[in-house]
Amino acid sequence: MNIHEHQAKAVLKTFGAPVAEGVAIFSADEAAAAADKLPGPLWVVKSQIHAGGRGKGKFKELGPDAKGGVRLAFSKDEVIAHAREMLGNTLVTHQTGPEGKQVNRLYIEDGADIARELYCSLLVNRETGKVAFVVSTEGGMDIEQVAHDTPEKIHTIDIDPEYGVTQGDAVRIAEALHLHDVARDDMMELAPTLYKAFTEKDMSLLEINPLIVMENHHLRVLDAKVSFDGNALFRHPDIMELRDTTEEDAKEIEASKYDLAYVALDGNIGCMVNGAGLAMATMDIIKLYGAEPANFLDVGGGASKEKVTAAFKIITADKNVKGILVNIFGGIMRCDVIAEGVVAAVKDVGLQVPLVVRLEGTNVEKGKQIINESGLNVIAADDLDDAAQKIVAAVKEAE
Ligand code: GDP
Ligand code: MG
Repeated sequence: MNIHEHQAKAVLKTFGAPVAEGVAIFSADEAAAAADKLPGPLWVVKSQIHAGGRGKGKFKELGPDAKGGVRLAFSKDEVIAHAREMLGNTLVTHQTGPEGKQVNRLYIEDGADIARELYCSLLVNRETGKVAFVVSTEGGMDIEQVAHDTPEKIHTIDIDPEYGVTQGDAVRIAEALHLHDVARDDMMELAPTLYKAFTEKDMSLLEINPLIVMENHHLRVLDAKVSFDGNALFRHPDIMELRDTTEEDAKEIEASKYDLAYVALDGNIGCMVNGAGLAMATMDIIKLYGAEPANFLDVGGGASKEKVTAAFKIITADKNVKGILVNIFGGIMRCDVIAEGVVAAVKDVGLQVPLVVRLEGTNVEKGKQIINESGLNVIAADDLDDAAQKIVAAVKEAE
């Protein structure tokens, strides 16, 4: 789960990380009061969307010459003017895709005097199985670009879970970032603080880009992007409250209500599969036969008829879906339950696109019988290859 920058900063602040004062607002009417709460003479008006690259982003409605999604303001009037211009409009950045994201809230922040912009993130290093700091002196820009052009400027420091961030680790981080004196002292404190926040809150990513050295030589977290491990969220009701569903795909929200593992994708073949491995294999084989999956969907092991019905409805509600492939290997999951769910859903919402069903495993005969007797226009398939070829052909034919 992702949260907004201002929320991430509030979380980091509770651990003692240095962040600026700021106020989140949802309407331009709140801009003046927000600016009044901050000392000036510099304010920053920041679009809050779940995507990076806001500074260089463009508002769809404002034309190419308008300023981006992160703006400096040198007076309260300017704060208000920016807020009026930005709120409600659609910001397009290199991370939002061409459709962009509507800006529904702004963060008005006390501006900093920047001497240097650095990059500092924490993530799970899958090669070593440890939480690692990834740092670079090249902050404030696209880190993927830095990794591509000058990989030697990116340093990875693994943290031993038994000891946490040691003095030695913090020194290595400070040296990799060319920090001296006050800034170095700040890092000796900040590194363990960030590690504590990351591990205690079960984060999967904590990215500070940029971490800045201010003119007064102190460090400050200027931007913060945090993702949490969804499987650990039950332990963090405080974090769960920060969820902003307006930033998420409506189909994914619906799926999460039924505890379905669903990810929306760009293709046109809807997939209903049990088991993550089989779901991946199904997506691969659809691609192999020249089409693209519209989603990843794992209905799970012991799915009920209601869950299967909900899953099928989510797939059919997607306007991009031009064909559906149900691919079930009944182990714990019983094929007759899947069949009942599919039939119930189709009776409810109808079926406008071709449907290929491949059932195998527990109660397969009963499942096939339920589908045959339902009178639904279903194309039966014997195995994964056969199923993928049939759905791809059916979709191509319908075009
Ligand atoms: P992003 O574009 O979505 O990554 O948003 P950031 O929060 O990283 O802001 C983009 C850029 O705006 C930063 O890299 C800074 O150069 C600039 N910026 C943000 N806050 C301040 C501030 O307090 N003072 C100054 N001078 N520049 C800022
Ligand atoms: Mg940034």
